[in-house]
Amino acid sequence: MAEKFDVIVVGAGPAGSSAAYTLAKAGLNVIMFERGEYPGSKNVMGGVLYRHQLQEIIPDFIEQGAPFERPIVEQRFWLLDEQSAFQAGYKGLEWAKPPYNNFTVFRAKFDQWFAGKAVEQGALLINETVVTEVIVEDGKVIGVRTDRPDGDVYADIVILADGVNSLLAKQLGFHKELRPDEVALAVMQVINLPAEKIEERFNLEPNQGTTIEIFGDSTKGMLGTAFIYTNKESISIGVGTLLSGLMKHRIRPYELLETLKHHPLVRKLIEGGEAKEYLAHLIPEGGYHSIPKLVGHGVMVVGDAAQLVNGIHREGSNLAMASGRLAAETAILAKQVGDYSENLLDTYRIKLMESFVGQDLKKYKDAAHTLDRHPQYFKEFIPMINRAASEMFTVDGASKWEKQKRILGMVQERGTVNTIRDLYRVWKVMK
Ligand code: FAD
Repeated sequence: MAEKFDVIVVGAGPAGSSAAYTLAKAGLNVIMFERGEYPGSKNVMGGVLYRHQLQEIIPDFIEQGAPFERPIVEQRFWLLDEQSAFQAGYKGLEWAKPPYNNFTVFRAKFDQWFAGKAVEQGALLINETVVTEVIVEDGKVIGVRTDRPDGDVYADIVILADGVNSLLAKQLGFHKELRPDEVALAVMQVINLPAEKIEERFNLEPNQGTTIEIFGDSTKGMLGTAFIYTNKESISIGVGTLLSGLMKHRIRPYELLETLKHHPLVRKLIEGGEAKEYLAHLIPEGGYHSIPKLVGHGVMVVGDAAQLVNGIHREGSNLAMASGRLAAETAILAKQVGDYSENLLDTYRIKLMESFVGQDLKKYKDAAHTLDRHPQYFKEFIPMINRAASEMFTVDGASKWEKQKRILGMVQERGTVNTIRDLYRVWKVMK
């Protein structure tokens, strides 16, 4: 008879390790499978990791040595044109000290640490093992099949934390093949630079970091973003766009990244750096409308596997951790009452939808699709905002009234009614 556990967790990313940690801490018998050589070895993220959700799971994560790069003290936003950028952002030194707001991380280090914490609580972690199938009997999930010899393992509950493609949720019929407009392809590079150079170029003290989110020219007008994040002794630079945009415009993502690296406003930030790693990964971007069925008898889906990414705010790791924790709490309840039915496990879906995860995804439910259907926001508005800023800030003897008139002229040129309609549409999907 194969071994039986209380819970099987598939995937040791932030979602899986949150679930495994919470379950093991509550005394449940839990096994977590990871296909990589070690947790994080296959994982890619910009990456900014959010303090709040981690603290809810491990309150003293700093004392426990969570491997962070830099606490972020500044978030900048650029609307990029060919030779310029309209910039906004916030720098707050309150984020430079505990409890902090968020941190840059390397997933290869962070995931390994986080999964290790779950193991310390008593979870069994099995690396280099692919879960090939969910075992279903009489409509109930009762375990998983792995690629190991005699690789069937049984449990009362299986938590699928297997990331964006989730072949296992697909096998259960919870979702279909992802559409190209539901998923972004992101490519990124880690570029080594001495810490002092980073601090000089980004105006930072040691142990402070900056993020820059870039819209516009970085994706050649397609829906997507680019990013530049500071690590201790390197910079992560990347760009992500919907697969549908890349297919339509026949652009290869690495071409976008190379163009970004050579942009006159970006080039100087990474100058002299040594490219260390080149990474590519999919990001679920379908939002609220793409959330699959989340629960069945004996099974729950969490994190990217459940398409839980807030693309507007580049949040994914925190939604993954929150969903992993909520699924684990539901599994603990199920164990207490001895009920693993879909009806009981639906508690997870309800709690998730009531939490910031469901609420935020609902708030922006139509944002990505609207921006994708109306390319003028990236193609026309961003260049226009740059021209307007250039006009306003160029001192050329014209009065500021005259400058306002010229800017209004730009709006009239593209059509005042059209512009008001476009602004109203975007306000409606973001409000
Ligand atoms: P994953 O991290 O994908 O983990 C899934 C795990 O399951 C992996 O370890 C994988 O190896 C394993 N696995 C898969 N299939 C199997 C199987 N069959 N058997 C065994 N193991 C399996 N989010 C942020 O919050 N901030 C950011 O700055 C940010 N930047 C990003 C930049 C890029 C370029 C990308 C690609 C993503 C970014 N994200 C960011 C999103 C974030 O990375 C994800 O939302 C998050 O990693 C989801 O965690 P997860 O645990 O659900 O999935």
